[in-house]
Amino acid sequence: MVRAALADLAVHPIRLVAVSPLIRSRPVGPSQREYVNGAAVVETRLDPPALLELLQDIEARFGRKRQGQRWRARTLDLDIVLWSGGCWSDATLTIPHREFRKRAFVLCPAARIARLWRDPVTGHSVGHLEYRIKRRVDRSALAP
Ligand code: AMP
Repeated sequence: MVRAALADLAVHPIRLVAVSPLIRSRPVGPSQREYVNGAAVVETRLDPPALLELLQDIEARFGRKRQGQRWRARTLDLDIVLWSGGCWSDATLTIPHREFRKRAFVLCPAARIARLWRDPVTGHSVGHLEYRIKRRVDRSALAP
């Protein structure tokens, strides 16, 4: 499904520059499903709100419903993590994505294709943020 969604993206005024390997991860929250996560670098003339609208159209086409419990099992979630223009903030869109620094399932695939991209808020590279979160995950695995 992720590969089909990526193919869908490339039909629009969007160029797929790089796609990470897909990585399996356990769910955050009560969902029972396993997830598959990936990251892509895309190039487009669309501004961030127009890109978000397009991503939401693709989510809708792949069956995601927006109403109801936030963490309900979902089919496809497409987010904008970073933007070459830096920061964006309005009522419906925040870039960098608010949660991405805490999410190994975002940072691990992103680091495979955009290791040197910098988070404009903290100044850390994606590779460094991945290193930090992996260290945290390793430590919690060792905790009694
Ligand atoms: P989620 O449950 O994380 O998919 O939340 C989706 C909602 O988050 C969307 O309706 C967007 O309006 C909002 N949102 C805020 N920032 C972003 C972002 N960087 N990428 C995608 N959605 C975002």
